[in-house]
Amino acid sequence: MNRCPECDAEIDLDEDEVEEGEILSCPECDVELEVVQVHPVHLNVISEEDEDDDEEEEEAKEKKAEVEEEEDE
Ligand SMILES: [Zn+2]
Repeated sequence: MNRCPECDAEIDLDEDEVEEGEILSCPECDVELEVVQVHPVHLNVISEEDEDDDEEEEEAKEKKAEVEEEEDE
């Protein structure tokens, strides 16, 4: 029996029925889970929010750098 890493709900998976790299969604909290290992099954939460935050931070830094360059001229 596998459990959702996010909400700890039980997820009934047979290791013979899933493939490595397969994307599942938790029936309880709807989070996307990637099958990173099949023997035994290991699920990894795909957190889009964290990725978005990183991208926004990088964009903000780039914009700040552009502003600083303009001020130097
Ligand atoms: Zn869940």
